Amino acid sequence: MAFRVLRAPAPQPDGRTPAGSRVRRVPMAALLAVLLVGAVAAPASAAWPVASRSSYISQYFHRGHRADDIAASRGTRIVPIRTGRVVFAGWKSNCGGYQVWVYHGSGLYTAYYHMSHETSWKGRWVTRSTTTIGYVGATGCATGPHTHVEVWKGYPWRSGSYRVNPYGYIDSGSYLPLRYR
Ligand SMILES: [Zn+2]
Repeated sequence: MAFRVLRAPAPQPDGRTPAGSRVRRVPMAALLAVLLVGAVAAPASAAWPVASRSSYISQYFHRGHRADDIAASRGTRIVPIRTGRVVFAGWKSNCGGYQVWVYHGSGLYTAYYHMSHETSWKGRWVTRSTTTIGYVGATGCATGPHTHVEVWKGYPWRSGSYRVNPYGYIDSGSYLPLRYR
């Protein structure tokens, strides 16, 4: 993120700054305050994305699979690992079937695939561990019911974006199965 540095007002011949200088400084201070508050308020942790403590990771992140698969019964609620805003919800012919993508700020996105159906829509605000964004299914190229969870740095599938290991983002929360605690 880059900020345009406000140019210091040119001193007037009498040594005072122009009357407008104070007005120009306020927006910058307000912007910084908002950013600081946002950084503090942002949840430090993320949470298990399936509302079932009997679910389990059936496939971990590796070179050929840049996601974690969480196996759970068909129809189990899928909940976002962090609070954010939905940027895509619906069907895509990318093997993911019905899917939901959520933006969490700071360039971080999560994506949830193979839903039986999604219950979210673009623009909806969704809450970590709480909002049902869809249900576990096996749509797309899935062979059994599970959620394929991806954590993206950058908008999903856009050039320059990349996926990171989701594990550090899903290893907490009220639904975390005992075996992962
Ligand atoms: Zn997968």
